[in-house]
This record gives sequence, C-alpha cells and structure tokens, in this order.
Amino acid sequence: MTLGAGFLDQVNRAFDHAAKFTVHDPTLLNNIKACKNLFYTSFPIKRDDGRIEVMHAWRAEHSHHKLPCKGGIRYAEAVDADEVQALAALMTYKCALVDVPFGGAKGGIRIDPRRYSVGELERITRRYVFELVRKNFIGPGLDVPAPDVGTGSREMAWIADTYTQLRPGELDALGCVTAKPVSAGGIRGRTEATGRGVFFGAREVCRVAEDMKELGLSPGIEGKRVVVQGLGNVGYFAAKFFQAAGAILVGLAEYEGAVANPNGLDLEKVMAHRRERGTLLGAPGAKDLARREDALELECDLLVPAALERVITAENAPRVKARIVVEGANGPTTLEADEILARKGVMVIPDAYVNAGGVTVSYFEWVKNLGHVRFGRMQKRYEEGAYTRLLQTVEGVTSRKFTPEEVERVTQGPSEEDLVRSGLEETMIGAYHPIRETWKQHRGEVDLRTAAMIVAIDKVAQSYAQLGIFP
Ligand code: NAD
Repeated sequence: MTLGAGFLDQVNRAFDHAAKFTVHDPTLLNNIKACKNLFYTSFPIKRDDGRIEVMHAWRAEHSHHKLPCKGGIRYAEAVDADEVQALAALMTYKCALVDVPFGGAKGGIRIDPRRYSVGELERITRRYVFELVRKNFIGPGLDVPAPDVGTGSREMAWIADTYTQLRPGELDALGCVTAKPVSAGGIRGRTEATGRGVFFGAREVCRVAEDMKELGLSPGIEGKRVVVQGLGNVGYFAAKFFQAAGAILVGLAEYEGAVANPNGLDLEKVMAHRRERGTLLGAPGAKDLARREDALELECDLLVPAALERVITAENAPRVKARIVVEGANGPTTLEADEILARKGVMVIPDAYVNAGGVTVSYFEWVKNLGHVRFGRMQKRYEEGAYTRLLQTVEGVTSRKFTPEEVERVTQGPSEEDLVRSGLEETMIGAYHPIRETWKQHRGEVDLRTAAMIVAIDKVAQSYAQLGIFP
C-alpha cells in the first residue's frame, strides 16, 4: 500500500464513521464522499543540463457544491492520485467548517523540489498551469490553487502570471490562485495565516475552563509547554504566536533532527542557528535529541505536528505525553493512533478545523482580487476622522486633553492586515463552538475530529439538498 492510498482510506473511514451520526440518505452521503474530478497529466521538461525529464502531476476536485474549488499544490516525492484525492476531500470539509464558500481541491507534482534549480521549478510550474488551463482545472470561478508542502508565494506568482498570459483580458484573472506576493495581487497577512489560525484555534479550545479541567490543565495558553514538529510555513508561525502568547517552547523538530529544553527554547535563536549552520542540532540553550521523532514523545501540554501526514501512528501514540495534539499539518494522526490517544484521554484538535486559517485568508485574497480594491482603502481615513471627532467631543464635555499617543491609539483606522487578522480570529473562534457543541451532544461516543466531520457533512449535505440534481 502506498502512503497516499492509506491516507485516502483514512479520510474516507473518518467520513463513514461520522456519517453514522447524521440523518442523511446513504446515497447523498456517498455522493458527498466521492471525488468529482481527477486530472492526471505527464509532460516533459528540459533540465538545465539539457536532459529531458518526464513529470507526473495531478489535480483533484473533490466537490463542486460550491465553486470555485480550492486547495493547495504540493511538490513532493510521495504525491499520487490517492494523496491528492485525500487532501482534496479534507479541503471540502475544512472549507465547510470555516464557512468558506468553496469546494475542496488539491494538486501536486511528484518531485523533490530541492533537486531542481529555480529556473527548472519555474518551467515545471508554468507547464503544469498550461495543462490545467487546457483542461479547465484552474480559473477564478473554477478552481483556485494555493501553496502546500514544497511550494510558496514564488510558485503562486508564476501560476498567476502564466494564467494571465494565457487568458488575456480576463478581468478577474488574478483570482486564479491565492497566497501570491502582495505586489502581485496577494493580501497582507496570508503568509502567516495558517500558523496564526493554528494558534487562534488552540487558544479558543484552551479557553474553555471546563474542558481544560478534564485534561488536568488550567485555561489559557500562557505557561503551556508546547512542542512543534516542522518549522516550515505552518510550524514556524504557529511556534512564533504560541511563544508570543507566553507559551514555553520545550521542543522543536525539523527534517534533520530535534532539540529540547524543558525551560523553553528561544525560537528566533534556534532559527538563526539553523540558517547559519543548516541544522537545528547544536542550537544555543538546547539539548539535541537522539532521533527527530523523539520530539513527538516529549513531556508537554500541546504537541503541534506541522510537517507531514501520518507521523503519529499506532507505534508511537502510546508514548505521546502531550495532553492536546494540535494538527497543524494535514492528516498527521492515523486513525489507529487516534483511538489510542482517545483511550489515554488526549484531546486531538483536528486538522480540518485548526489549520483552516490559510484557506480562510485565501478566501479574503480571492474576494480582494474580484473586488479589485485593497481592504481598508475606502474606510481607513474615514474612520480615523470619525474617531478623531468623537475624541474631540469627549474632550469638549470632560475638559480632559488626550495625549498625542492616546489620540493615535484610539483613532487609527484599520489597515488591510488589521482586517485580515480580525476576520481570521473571528472565523477560528466562531467555527470552534459548533464543533464543540456537537462533541458534547454525542458525549462519550465521538471525539473532536468526528464532531468536526459531522458538522462539515451536515453543511455540505444541506448545500446539495438545496441545489437539487441537474438535469
Ligand atoms: P513547508 O514545506 O513550508 O514545511 C514543512 C516543514 O516540515 C519543512 O520545513 C520540512 O523540512 C519539515 N519536515 C519534513 N519532514 C519532517 C519530519 N519528518 N520531521 C520534522 N520536520 C519535517 O510546508 P507547510 O506549508 O508548512 O505545510 C506543512 C503541513 O501543513 C502540510 O501537511 C500541509 O498540507 C499543511 N497545511 C499547510 C497550509 C499552508 O497554508 N501552507 C495550510 C493548511 C495545512
């Protein structure tokens, strides 16, 4: 069994388990579960040394109940049809949970991007986009990619440029992809959005005193001991926001190894060391662990796997000491591990909810692209004027004179970044409580993952029921 095949099976088994707690017709449930479109292509590219290499690439569109479809593009050696379908399905459920009006999708190319030059990666990316355009698998109203493992804003800029070249005059063309650089139509706050959302989600869960008491923890993030595995886009920013909120980073793991300190690691010092030496190992104030996987078994309150799927398995789950697992990555916990963690009383905050910050801010970027105006541009100065007049009125009636600093603090209108953060925070807080209520409603029968899946299935089922069947 390939890695991908197991992953799709895992997502579908989680769906089937949750579906038992819903009242929907089995045919409708099967329709929701099935992947709607799967595109495979192979194409040649020229390496820098003149050799020709054949690429294998996929795009899966899991659901069309809302359009466009949305989901990242992954460059990794394990990419295959099953993996993209599994990840596309997760995207459908994720978008439903955070009320982002998209169907789920995912794409990938089977390469290790570290083995290719920037020029080669650009040629691979542009040719992939060309193939997607030819088959109608990309477009602001059809299917909108974003980054995933092995891709980032650089690749997204190439995608936007290629699409725009191939569709001259298409007014909304920039909405064909999200997480672009700000200067190429991106939105401020997208880069750190998933990590920030992981933090907001975990903070909301930890805010509920009653649930924390059951885990033997006090409410709040401050003082919580946190381990983060994978310091890429998701993990690095999640670690940064946890640390800024007063959590203690007791362990950090990367590809080459892991480091720990029960009294806390300084994230920026560890990252600076890694940039200089190419490894986390030997970082100042840190103890090297024997194996990178040992980080998953450290004594801590919150464990944040933020690297790849299926890292907490039946083999190591019995040794996980965290009280809460925060799934920054997609699918980091296998179903077998889930059962073991549940028996140990460990709470798992599921990926479909807690790492939805990226797609949430991607949605804001897409709306910005369709609106052709930066958020905050219309109201920033207007609000500043209104608050200034209000302060002047208060000064008039109280004969209290505000200092320039007070005036500035109170009267500042929102920037695009302020609005993005606020929208993300609202989304992550608002999305948690229906999941928690469902979890409490089925107390003892379901965990948070199943509760989240029940909420997602209900929302997608409602859309299908309202849409009817064509023709
Ligand atoms: P990334 O490539 O930026 O970072 C992944 C990091 O994990 C890399 O630094 C890599 O070296 C490290 N890593 C790989 N194998 C490891 C191992 N065995 N142990 C420790 N570290 C290891 O990718 P990302 O965008 O941060 O995505 C990470 C996960 O989060 C993936 O599962 C992805 O699907 C998911 N995700 C990403 C986003 C996003 O907006 N980027 C959104 C939602 C979910």
